[in-house]
This record gives sequence, C-alpha cells and structure tokens, in this order.
Amino acid sequence: MTCAIRDGAEQKIWARLDQLKAMRTKQGLSLKVGVLGCMAERLRDKLLDQGKLVDVVCGPDAYRSLPYLLALADENHQVANVMLSADETYADIMPLRLDPSQISAHLSIMRGCNNMCAFCIVPFTRGTERSRPIQSIVDEVRKLCEQGIREVTLLGQNVNSYRDTTAINALGLGSDLAPGFSTIYKRKDGGLRFAELIDRVAAVDPELRIRFTSPHPKDFPDDLLHVIRAHPNICNQLHLPAQSGSTTMLQRMRRGYSRDAFLSLVERARALIPNVALSTDIIAGFCGETEAEHQDTVSLMRDVAFDQAFMFAYSMREKTFAHRHMEDNVPAGVKSRRLAEIIATHYDAAKSKHQRMLVGTWQLVLVDGKARRNTKDGREQYAGRAESNLKVHFTLPDGVMGESLVGKYVAVEVHTASGASLSGEFRGVSSIREFHAASEPRGMTPTASAVAPAPVGALPTAERVVGATASSASG
Ligand code: SAH
Ligand code: SF4
Repeated sequence: MTCAIRDGAEQKIWARLDQLKAMRTKQGLSLKVGVLGCMAERLRDKLLDQGKLVDVVCGPDAYRSLPYLLALADENHQVANVMLSADETYADIMPLRLDPSQISAHLSIMRGCNNMCAFCIVPFTRGTERSRPIQSIVDEVRKLCEQGIREVTLLGQNVNSYRDTTAINALGLGSDLAPGFSTIYKRKDGGLRFAELIDRVAAVDPELRIRFTSPHPKDFPDDLLHVIRAHPNICNQLHLPAQSGSTTMLQRMRRGYSRDAFLSLVERARALIPNVALSTDIIAGFCGETEAEHQDTVSLMRDVAFDQAFMFAYSMREKTFAHRHMEDNVPAGVKSRRLAEIIATHYDAAKSKHQRMLVGTWQLVLVDGKARRNTKDGREQYAGRAESNLKVHFTLPDGVMGESLVGKYVAVEVHTASGASLSGEFRGVSSIREFHAASEPRGMTPTASAVAPAPVGALPTAERVVGATASSASG
C-alpha cells in the first residue's frame, strides 16, 4: 500500500522494493510483489519497467480487480489496472477485521478532492470527490459497534466536504462554507452534507467515540460546529490544516482563505465547542516562501497554540499547479531550518498550553493497552487517548487489573503534560455519558459523579475493585 503525497513516502517504497528483490533473487523466495495505491497510479510504467521487480500494479480505484490481477500475474506476465473512477467508493465492501481485540476502526466515507491546491498531488492520484451513501455508512458503524469497536474515525481526503447526492438534505445542515472561505472550483448544491451524516452516525451508539480526518477548513460552517458540540460522543477535537500562516503564501497555495479567515474559524470553533482541541498541518518552504511569510507561520503556531501538528518540508510533486507554473526555489537547508523552527515553536506553545490548561484536570481516556514504558520509578503504566486525541499514560492503584480496562473509558487525573502527551493517575471507570453529564462545560474536570460508584455491584470482579477505588478516590 503506497502513498504519493510527498517524495519521502515514495522513497521508502523504492527501498522496500529493493529489499523484496533481494529476497527473491538472493534467498530464492517465491513472491508475488504488488504495488497498490496512489504511487501505483502515478508511476505505473516506471514500476513495471524497473527490472521486472513488480508483478501487480493496482491504483486506488481498482482494488475490485485485485483477485483477477493476482490470478493473471506470473513469471512472464506483469499486470496493471490504474483506472480512476468517477464513482468508486467501495460502499458495499465491509472490511474484514481479523483482530477481535481491536477497539478502534477507520471507515472511509468519501474519496477524492476537487480543490487543486497548488502543492498537492491528491486530485491527480485520487480523482474528483465522491461520497458513500449515508445508509451504508450508518450500517457499517452499527456493525462495528456490535463487534465491540469503541471508537470510529471517519476518513476522507476532505472528509467534511462529504455530499451524498443520493439522499435529500432533510435538515439542511452543513451546506454553507465557513465565513471567509472560498473554493476555486464551482460548488454544486444539494445532497446530504457532513453535519447531518455525523449527527446520524453519533446517534448509533452514544458510547461510541467518533472522530474524523482529514477535514478541509472551508467546510466548517457553524451548524457543523453546533452538531459536534451537541454530541458528547463526537470528540471535541478538530483538525484544521492551515498549511501556512501567511495570507500571500495561502494565495499562492490556492487555499481559498486568508490568515484572518483561518484565525476567525479558530475563534468560532473555540467559542462554540468549549475546550476544543485543535490540530493542524503545515508546509515549510513552499515555492517562493520569503522569510517574512515563514515568520507568519511561526507566529500562527505561537498564537493559536495547536494541541497537535503535522509539519512537513515542501516537496515538489509532478502534475501539480506548482510543478507547471512555479519554481521549487527555497534551498533544502533553508526548508529544514524553517521546518525545525516551526516544530520547536509548536511544541513549546503546545507544552505551555497543556501545562496551563490540562494539569490538574480529569480526562476521559479510552484505554488501548499497556504503555510501552513504565514510570521512572518503575511503576507499570497503561495508555489510551483523551478526547483531544492526546496520548495519556496513567498508573493504577494496587489491586486494579489494567488488562480489564482495555477498551473501556476511564477517568484519569492529569499530573504532568508535555507538548505531545499527558500522564497521570487512574481515578475510576466511567462512560461518555456519565463523564459529560458531570463535566459541563464540555471538557472541564467533572465532579465526582463522573466515575459513579453506582455500577460497582453490576460489574465483574476485577472492576469491582476499580469501582471501589473510584468511589473512595472521588469521595
Ligand atoms: N485535504 C486536506 C489535507 C490532506 S493532504 C486539506 O487540504 O487540508 C495531507 C497533508 O499533506 C496536507 O495537509 C499538507 O500539509 C501535506 N502535503 C500535501 N502535499 C504536500 C507536498 N507537496 N509537500 C509537503 N507536504 C504536502
Ligand atoms: Fe490536497 Fe487537501 Fe488541497 Fe485537496 S484540499 S488538493 S487533498 S491539500
């Protein structure tokens, strides 16, 4: 499975293909090598030419032909299908989940992109936007709940640009763009939009956590923010990919918004969703980036203080607007220096925000397992994710069996915070509804009833200890 978004991702695949070649030629292993996904789509001919290294090449819209391609490929025949489709969403294919202990799942709801940002290859490798019909999504979410999944992440290249053209937008929710944002393509009207989809998905099970990625900042109208606010099981965490903090750079990137429009979206999100956590994507060193434009990005990181950020050095991609019309003229050394400054500013701002706002609070954590590391004084730790998506490590009181907590929501009191994670102490088993009912406004430290001792009698033995601990700790 391959990604073509940055050159670095493709270099990893070439290195992996060399390893596989060595396994085939030097160790004599009988292997069929297939390259799937966006890089297959982009580099079909190069992949097929490269010393007969690859047997099967299959683009992101052609996976239905995989059994056929695998049957055809042999020592003398390489096969490929990289056709892009205007309507493939794989809506009728339910993924096979082989690990019964899995607690979270990803679910693709839309594919493709209409935006054509100057730096980005996605519209060329993934084609135009198309969305899965709402009913197939709701059905899959219901099945996942039945299988014991506790957290679902809705996926798409611009997940909140979702538009089911087979359904009517009954509530009329989510049709507008966020104020101050525009598109460079002509938008279509109609269809059921993301605000209504996520409203329906959240209603499937109030104890199922919902996340979504990667959204585009233009598709956050206020009514979507209200829907997120209204459902305690939709995490109060938004990914708002800014790409740059400079209005002139955003224009060259063809992003359709200014620094001010982005900042007012941040303000509205923070006003409408109390204690919302924000993350972003940033590109350092795009074509023609001046030092002043770079400093605008550094100041954006400082001013917004995102909770998480994914920061990249720009790499030129074929076919893009930048490839056709611009010059990749920021020297590699300057790009990496600027990237390092952005990263340092982000972690600094995130650390002080987390220390100021989160230390001393209780966070609702979905436990995913034993932490890789013990505390410095050798105590065993468990780990999970807070609603903000920050990793949380926590210790347990004597007698509480960590394994019994995996897949459960627990309250953790935060003692320390860094730019990327939190750590603290287990306070009790909870649930999304209990925790939120006791912690208005959303995200604030709940009162003791969030780890209600009430269910103790009904819980299995290991958890009775947990419940008892919770009640004594909170009482
Ligand atoms: N659709 C989302 C982003 C999806 S692509 C949006 O528009 O906001 C994921 C991220 O990869 C982008 O946000 C961008 O930061 C990064 N990216 C895309 N093309 C890139 C390139 N050519 N060089 C470096 N980073 C890139
Ligand atoms: Fe790429 Fe996102 Fe822009 Fe689409 S909106 S072209 S996926 S960066």
